[in-house]
Amino acid sequence: MSETGTTPLAGRLKQQIANDGPITVADYMARCLADPEHGYYMSAEPFGASGDFITAPEVSQMFGELIGAWLLHVWTALKSPPRVHLVELGPGRGTLSRDILRVAGLRPGFREALTLHLVETSERLRAVQAETLAESGLTPVWHDGLDSLPQDGPLLVVANEFFDALPIHQYVNTGKAWCERCVGLDEAGDLAFVTGPGQLDTRPLAAELRGAPAGAIIETQPLSNALAETLATRIARQDGAALVIDYGTTRTAPGDTLQAVRRHAYDPVLAHPGTADLTAHVNFEALARAMRVAPLVPRGAITQGEFLLRLGLLERAGRLGAGKSPDAQERIHGEVERLAGPEEMGTLFKVLAVARADISLPAFDT
Ligand code: SAH
Repeated sequence: MSETGTTPLAGRLKQQIANDGPITVADYMARCLADPEHGYYMSAEPFGASGDFITAPEVSQMFGELIGAWLLHVWTALKSPPRVHLVELGPGRGTLSRDILRVAGLRPGFREALTLHLVETSERLRAVQAETLAESGLTPVWHDGLDSLPQDGPLLVVANEFFDALPIHQYVNTGKAWCERCVGLDEAGDLAFVTGPGQLDTRPLAAELRGAPAGAIIETQPLSNALAETLATRIARQDGAALVIDYGTTRTAPGDTLQAVRRHAYDPVLAHPGTADLTAHVNFEALARAMRVAPLVPRGAITQGEFLLRLGLLERAGRLGAGKSPDAQERIHGEVERLAGPEEMGTLFKVLAVARADISLPAFDT
């Protein structure tokens, strides 16, 4: 039985590749996630226990609450501007924004200063976000990208598990050159990785690639870096801060991190295009470099465990559990472990913050 012929998008891709030749890994990723008809975020229900994976805001309300407290501190450090735009990139079900706004409500000046902007390409998820945020008291404004965000007033930007969904390129060391990894067809007509004609300019990566064996893979994320730079340029001009949370690395090095996840389990990357989530680890070193737009200074990346513990995760868990049943306390303890435990999200996930050097950022500078 065909390994890769199992989804409608697989059929389309095979036809296209048969006609026009292999496509890059970046194109494959873009089609799997964002194809208007068959893209994963356009049609599937990715999140939660019944979906394919669970993100930190879906694990526990404490995640969004601590980020809300972080944002409140930054707003105060910015001298409490009367108008500030909370921007979430890729809000999924809208849970993170909902939890942030609940905390913001505890400080009326902050809450009243906020407007809410959601950058989301999926119409289906926009509807879910509208429902989640219906009782937040704020009417979100949706955007396809960064261009239409308000041009005036500081931006407080949060992106959790957003950059991992942006297409990456992969290059394979053939021994002679680093050639672009593409998706083509094998002899049976199934999707298969092949080496394309494109070559990587290795000069900027000479140190990182030295000694890499034949067959090694290096990933680049030009789309993520460009988006991060655009974002930083906006914040540099309008003031504010950004917080980027995702799984990834703080040092550029060869490695294949392209992964598909389906029903809470890893799935072969080419097996279910359009019906599995497809992501890659974020290179935070590259992201920080892209966001170093004067007068902004990137802070971190630190691990999610460090970030949440320094913000008081244990204290928050203690307050949340006080007076509750042993079952409830057990559940809260499990959530802490899941968010900050080194074997769970605590070490793999990193947090990068960007703001002016004179703005002190909790968990990073204090
Ligand atoms: N932040 C959420 C969801 C992460 S999943 C959480 O933590 O639960 C990724 C989200 O980014 C989804 O909402 C997806 O539709 C959105 N997304 C993916 N690519 C995008 C793009 N290029 N532009 C805008 N949103 C995108």
